[in-house]
Amino acid sequence: MLLKDDIAQFRSQFRGSLIEPDHADYEQERKVYNAMISRKPRLIAQCADVADVMAAVRFSREHGLLVSIRGGGHNAAGLGICDDGLVIDLSLMRYIRVDPATRMVRVGGGCKWGDVDHATHAFGLAVPSGIISTTGVGGLTLGGGLGHLTRKYGLTIDNLMAADVVLADGSSVVASADENSDLFWALRGGGGNFGVVTSFLFQAHPVHTVCAGPMLWQLDQASDVMKWYREFIVQAPEEISGFFAFLTVPPAPPFPTELHLKKMCAIVWCYLGSMEQATQILEPIRSFRRPAVELFGPMPFPALQTMFDELYPPGLQWYWKADFVKQLPDEAIALHIQHAAALPTMHSTMHLYPINGMARRTRNGDTPWNYRDANWGEVFVGVDPDNANKDRVTAWARDYWEALHPFGAGGAYVNFMMDEGEDRIRASYGENYGRLAAIKAKYDPDNFFRVNQNILPARVNGES
Ligand SMILES: Cc1cc2nc3c(=O)[nH]c(=O)nc-3n(C[C@H](O)[C@H](O)[C@H](O)COP(=O)(O)OP(=O)(O)OC[C@H]3O[C@@H](n4cnc5c(N)ncnc54)[C@H](O)[C@@H]3O)c2cc1C
Repeated sequence: MLLKDDIAQFRSQFRGSLIEPDHADYEQERKVYNAMISRKPRLIAQCADVADVMAAVRFSREHGLLVSIRGGGHNAAGLGICDDGLVIDLSLMRYIRVDPATRMVRVGGGCKWGDVDHATHAFGLAVPSGIISTTGVGGLTLGGGLGHLTRKYGLTIDNLMAADVVLADGSSVVASADENSDLFWALRGGGGNFGVVTSFLFQAHPVHTVCAGPMLWQLDQASDVMKWYREFIVQAPEEISGFFAFLTVPPAPPFPTELHLKKMCAIVWCYLGSMEQATQILEPIRSFRRPAVELFGPMPFPALQTMFDELYPPGLQWYWKADFVKQLPDEAIALHIQHAAALPTMHSTMHLYPINGMARRTRNGDTPWNYRDANWGEVFVGVDPDNANKDRVTAWARDYWEALHPFGAGGAYVNFMMDEGEDRIRASYGENYGRLAAIKAKYDPDNFFRVNQNILPARVNGES
């Protein structure tokens, strides 16, 4: 049992904030992005530095506390927070240093992608991440990182050069190609299983102004557009990326009033080049099926990254299902359209994120991320502000996923999964699971870090 004296002693060696249930900020600080998740930790340790993280790990170990690691708090399954345990909250560790000469960017473990985009943009650089700025660097990176720059520059993990990691015994080590290379391999897709990453070192790329934004079509054109897209995106120049979506048009500018609340399909483009070249590349879709509306144009990269922030503020109810997809046969497209026509709420959506291009040039075993040969990461999200609609959005996402799952590649992107059990985690890592389990056994034999898409240490698991 944790006594007041224990906490007082811990506090005396801790520089950040220790938040207990009777603290005025407790209710606010225990919230995560997904309002469907409500957990009540015994203690939230907002760490100021690496020493605090080491102290928090040792304190938790000494007192047998369950530990969760919170980066940006965006995880679908709420894996940044736990009931009755200690949260190692990195939100105070939000520093960034850009070295323009080497294009290396050092990022504190609690940063969000908006922090990174802001810092790198000043130097005409960007680190490949996702499609929204409020997501945490920690969780997104450790799970893989799929986004606008994937086709040109690879997954986020393909741009991770090194990490500082506090291990389960409370020690701090560097993981890179040269130091603890097995740990470095595992971090690039293995999630928060191996330790607390207190800082990341990324390779950035020259990205400043992009030609980007969505094109939208009426649902009765979705079949044609999706069929065109499945051919286009697998062979398009790597400078262009576009994720496909089904959505409901928000009832606000800049969308024309006649389209408000209409269910439509969209492709959200990002082109790394001039408007002239973009116009040429996108001419085939414009002449094949003219979009009902498009908001495509030149913009600073951070403007693209923040485009959806306002639509998806923290505190909505989210239910996620996902799969990797290699092919989009006509039969699957027909099912997509059937379920898209039943989108249950304005925020609910389906996205297909392309995985080919540069991401394909790394092989499946080079990092734990096992679906380099899939063409898309597919995600179905039932979303709504109102808790009363929780069951409705959940049922829609599940039904949609069940209909499309037979066309999936086997596993799903771990960052798009709820708590779905060991089989789904194994399916997602495929042949890499055994190696991950062995590295887990070396660095975290007691499964101290288990509030995550958990990889069981090989010994516990009976694997060699
Ligand atoms: C609106 C929205 C949009 C998204 N878009 C994308 C996208 O475009 N591309 C994409 O790839 N993903 C996307 N995601 C998924 C996202 O990658 C995951 O939700 C991810 O887990 C979020 O990371 P976080 O740090 O915010 O999460 P948290 O909830 O803080 O943590 C999640 C997990 O990561 C681990 N973790 C976090 N930080 C650290 C750290 N520093 N050290 C060790 N472990 C850590 C924790 O143990 C926990 O298991 C999106 C999610 C949302 C909600």
